[in-house]
Amino acid sequence: MLDHSNYKRRRLTINGIVQGVGFRPFIYSLARGIGLVGSVYNTSDGVKVELQGSSPQLEQFESRLRPEAPPLSTIISVEIEEIPAMDESDFTIVASYDNASVSTLISPDVALCDDCKAELFDDKNRRYRYPFINCTNCGPRYTIIENIPYDRPFTSMKHFPLCKACHTEYQDPGDRRFHAQPNACPECGPQVWLTDQKGERIESNDPVSKTIELLVEGKILAIKGLGGFHLAVDSRNTDAVARLRLAKGRDEKPLAIMVRDLATAQTLVHLSQLEIETLGSIQAPIVLCTSKLDTNIAPNIAPGNDRLGIMLPYTPLHHLLLSGKLDTLVMTSANFSEEPICIDNDEALTRLAGLADFFLLHNRDIYLRTDDSVVMELSGKIRPVRRSRGYAPRPIFTKRKGPSILAVGAELKNVVGLSKDEKVFLSQHIGDLENLEAFEFFKMTIEHIQRIFELEPELIVHDLHPEYLSTKWAKDQTLPLLGVQHHHAHLAACMAENSLEEPVIGIIMDGTGYGTDGTIWGGEFLVGDPTGFDRKAHFEPMPLPGGEAAIKSPWRIGLGYLHQVFGANLPEIPALKERDIQPIIQMLNANINSPLTSSCGRLFDAVAALSGGRQEIRYEAQAAIEFMQAAQNDLGDDFSIFDPVQTDEKHIIPIKPILECLLSRKQTGRNFQQLSQWFHNSLIHTFVKITEQLRYENGIQNIVLSGGVFQNTLMFEGLINALTDIGLSVYTHHEVPSNDAGIALGQVIIGQKFLSF
Ligand code: ZN
Ligand code: ZN
Ligand code: FE
Repeated sequence: MLDHSNYKRRRLTINGIVQGVGFRPFIYSLARGIGLVGSVYNTSDGVKVELQGSSPQLEQFESRLRPEAPPLSTIISVEIEEIPAMDESDFTIVASYDNASVSTLISPDVALCDDCKAELFDDKNRRYRYPFINCTNCGPRYTIIENIPYDRPFTSMKHFPLCKACHTEYQDPGDRRFHAQPNACPECGPQVWLTDQKGERIESNDPVSKTIELLVEGKILAIKGLGGFHLAVDSRNTDAVARLRLAKGRDEKPLAIMVRDLATAQTLVHLSQLEIETLGSIQAPIVLCTSKLDTNIAPNIAPGNDRLGIMLPYTPLHHLLLSGKLDTLVMTSANFSEEPICIDNDEALTRLAGLADFFLLHNRDIYLRTDDSVVMELSGKIRPVRRSRGYAPRPIFTKRKGPSILAVGAELKNVVGLSKDEKVFLSQHIGDLENLEAFEFFKMTIEHIQRIFELEPELIVHDLHPEYLSTKWAKDQTLPLLGVQHHHAHLAACMAENSLEEPVIGIIMDGTGYGTDGTIWGGEFLVGDPTGFDRKAHFEPMPLPGGEAAIKSPWRIGLGYLHQVFGANLPEIPALKERDIQPIIQMLNANINSPLTSSCGRLFDAVAALSGGRQEIRYEAQAAIEFMQAAQNDLGDDFSIFDPVQTDEKHIIPIKPILECLLSRKQTGRNFQQLSQWFHNSLIHTFVKITEQLRYENGIQNIVLSGGVFQNTLMFEGLINALTDIGLSVYTHHEVPSNDAGIALGQVIIGQKFLSF
């Protein structure tokens, strides 16, 4: 009989991402290691742990809990209560009470862990070179879940009954595969095989090695992965890259590269410590890094771009593919142009028939397509550009609990959001809702997320733009609706991820967003919070001849701006001499299909084109990106301040002085680099001046920056520095993208405030 007089018993209630992530086995081994007795079990309030032992033992447990928790878990809170000691001599894992709606948090998909990687290349291991090796700490999650609870029969692993050896691991709390739902081995698990374009199987006892051979020969391979298919080619082979671009309908947009390891990455790009950590993280995103000059990769991978998207292998299959003759591979989402990524074998064989020469297929189904995530380091932090695989559906935690909201996002880079209490679940990247496939994917994702998180929203929030497919879909539903102005959503998103609640000044520099006055906004200074906003300052609206179509032709935007400012006295612009400008001028004169916009993105396009930059673009923001790169990370010391004109309560930044200063600088022989430096520097000075004015008028110190323009390093870092220098607190995005992929978060927050009025 134990003497309990020196023992204490405590009950810990732990909340957060603590299910399906190896949490209970972790608690089990931690408690046992310390010599504590008790039990661990799941309840609808979270994971409960009862611990009994001496005070130092209990303290040791509590201090080691957070730092040693499994990599996939996130502990949000731990509540501790003292309870009476009892007669107990062991520590046990208690089976789940079945219908308790245990924490509905589902882990994202996770890159292969080091333990599994070691086994993968250990020829004595029973999973040697097995492409689906995984454990409690790694492998597929979100993409294979069909329903909850997260249990094997509700995942695409249901087709693979565990063999005896795997079953033993699965049931042993001391095993690192205890309750690993995707657990598998060559005996019982999924397999890969190779086919030609027609789907005819190519017999080989080593399809992976055969794939490598084909890649070395210059073939395009469609490779089924974790969240969808990739198209892969040898990144040293310029012809293969060119063929891939042609097939994919992607002529210049940079392609991402998967590299064997960090050492290989370092031959291609410069890496900061933060970038190194991010590449090797469990999310394993594509990191947009600064390219090195002399590398042996094909020049057409990221033509004209200073940055190269790099990622490390994140599935066992990737590790195998990169362990042979090839140490770098172009790996791009397998789709045509902006359509969603392929996930199904038959679908891939049909849709990719003209794109890929061979297919490396497998029979573990993907239930939810998920593209690779993209991040970049800006101003000392990693910022998402596309938040998808590895991150979704990990929730964003907000400051307060609120009603459940469905936010349908914007049009481009669509992401949808669903909230529950203080958690906002953002979907993976859905893409541009401009084609039927993307729209189907959008609908399916909404349905799927509602199901796996058991959410019944009380309100649907949509963008104000009446033509967005997301808006139209929302209007077809029976739930109550709220339309939210696009830039207000940007503001609220940035506030939410920085836990701000008091009104802020939002500097929202963007491409396109429907305004409350029916014009297109996009260069806005808003003062407000999630309950409302005032539009305090913006760029003078300029015509966009041909509407959205003009975005592909920056010269047209430049011409529209010039025409608006100078009328018939158009200044001579060399770049415009080669263009057929008359039809555009007629369009502008007659005011046909020339909507007005205050967009900052369009101003960048116009100025870049008029400065001698790109006249036509092949991918989004190409003109602005190349213009920014020309400054070579230097703002120079030449700048103008474009004094805003005050009109009833508002400050309007006039376009005429911008163009006049630009033209006079061109006349005095400033080159493209100098013009870029001058323009960036001038915008920063102008923005600072307006912000100071708004601080004075509104007594607000907190500034949020949002909108796609803030993916421009020079603007973003320059403005943060300048605003911080004058004593303002600057808040930026680091959990959701600054671009329209962050809109859904803002929509959720605004919807919650709306319902709680
Ligand atoms: Zn593992
Ligand atoms: Zn097995
Ligand atoms: Fe936007």
